[in-house]
Amino acid sequence: MTFNELGLIEPIKKALREKGYTHPTPIQQQSIPILLRGKDLLGVAQTGTGKTAAFALPILQQIYMQPKRKGHRLIKALIVTPTRELAIQINDNFTAYGKFTNLRNTVIFGGVKQGAQTNELRKGVDILVATPGRLLDLMSQGYISLNDIEYFVLDEADHMLDMGFIHDIKKLLAKLPRKRQSLFFSATMPPSIVSLSQKILGDFEKVSITPKQATAERVDQGVYFVTKKNKIKLLIHLLETKDADSVLVFSRTKHGADKIVRLLGRNNIHAAAIHGNKSQNARQRALKHFKDGDIRVLVATDIAARGIDVSDLSLVVNYDLPNVSETYVHRIGRTGRAKASGVALSFCMMDERPYLRDIQKLINQKIPVISDHPFVDDGSEEPPKELQPKRTGNRPPGRKPDRRKRFRPKRKNPRNPR
Ligand code: AMP
Repeated sequence: MTFNELGLIEPIKKALREKGYTHPTPIQQQSIPILLRGKDLLGVAQTGTGKTAAFALPILQQIYMQPKRKGHRLIKALIVTPTRELAIQINDNFTAYGKFTNLRNTVIFGGVKQGAQTNELRKGVDILVATPGRLLDLMSQGYISLNDIEYFVLDEADHMLDMGFIHDIKKLLAKLPRKRQSLFFSATMPPSIVSLSQKILGDFEKVSITPKQATAERVDQGVYFVTKKNKIKLLIHLLETKDADSVLVFSRTKHGADKIVRLLGRNNIHAAAIHGNKSQNARQRALKHFKDGDIRVLVATDIAARGIDVSDLSLVVNYDLPNVSETYVHRIGRTGRAKASGVALSFCMMDERPYLRDIQKLINQKIPVISDHPFVDDGSEEPPKELQPKRTGNRPPGRKPDRRKRFRPKRKNPRNPR
C-alpha cells in the first residue's frame, strides 16, 4: 500500500516525500482511514510503530480542510503525552508533516521557564502538544483555552498512569468540549487503562499493533552472561569492537547511569547520561549532541529514554536487565525503528536470570547467548556482598557466636549500674 491510497491531500504527501517515507506502516494503514472518517480511535501501539504520523496526518488534514477563518488562531488540536522528550518529538513531527499546510503548532512542557512558550501561544497556534503539568498550569494562568478543541489525543496512556498523572488527566477531561474526536494510545491495556479509555472515547474503532513479535523480529538480540564487576569491561570491549555509530545504554538507576559515564570517560570514551536528576536543559543538550553524532554513547534510565527517537540508532545495550519484561520490548524498540534493523545486546548477571526468563516468555523467543567474549561468567567469581545469600540461623563452622557482646543487656543509667 502507498500513501496515495489513504486519501491524503497533496500538501501532506509532499511533506512525506521530503521525509523519505514511501509506504505507510501498519498502524498508519489502519488508523488514517478511520480518523479521516471522523471516528474515535483506540490504538494499542507503542512508540516506534509510526504512531505519531498515524494521528498527526489525519489531524493536520482535517484542520487544513476546514474553511479558513479570519482573526486569532484557536487551538483546535491538543496532544497530551507523558514526557518532555516525547512532547518535543511529536511537535517536531507535526512541524515536518505540516510543512506545506500553513498550520501552526507548538509544544509546552515543564522544567523550563514558561516565557518562550507563552510567547508562542500568544501568537496563536492550531495544534498544541503538551505534558500534563505545564498544560494545567498555563490553563490556570489564562494562556490556554480548550474551548475550541476538536481533536484530542492522549498518548502513551499507560505511562501516563505509571507516572501518576491520573488526576491531571481527569482535570483536563472536565475542561474539554464534549463534541470532539478523541484518540487514545497505549502500549498495554490493563483494566485501569480500559476504564480510562471508556471515559475519553465515544464511538470508537480499535487498532492493535502487537509490537512484541514485530520488535523482537526486527532486532538482532543477544545476551552476555557476565558478573557485576565485569559489566563495565564488557561494555568497553563492545564499544571498541562493534561498528555502531550511536549506542544507547540502559541503566536501572540514575546513580548507575552516572557511574557508567564516569568509567567510560576514564577509558577515553565520551558519553553522556540522561535521567530524572538532570535538568531539562542538560537532558536536551545531551540528546541533541547524541542525535547530531557529537557523542556516540548515551546512557539512560527508562523514564528518561521513553520514546526517544534517534534515527540510525544502531545498538541498544541493556547494561542492567529490566525487572519488568515489557520494558525490555520498549528499550529494544529504540533500535530497528520503522524499516531499519537494529541490534540489542543485554548483560545478565546470575541474579538477573529470572528477569531474562520472563522476557523470553513475553517475546516468545529465546535470546541467543553470546559466549564469545573475554568476560564470560563461568560462575567461579564470588558474587558481590549484596548478592550473597542472607545468613540463616546456622553459624559458619569454626566460629562461636560472641554471646557476651550480643546479649549484654543495656544499662539504664550508666552512672548507677544498679
Ligand atoms: P513513531 O512511532 O511515531 O515514533 O515513529 C517511529 C519512527 O519511524 C520515526 O523515526 C518516524 O520518523 C519513522 N516513520 C514513521 N512512519 C514512517 C513511514 N511510513 N516510513 C518510514 N519511516 C517512518
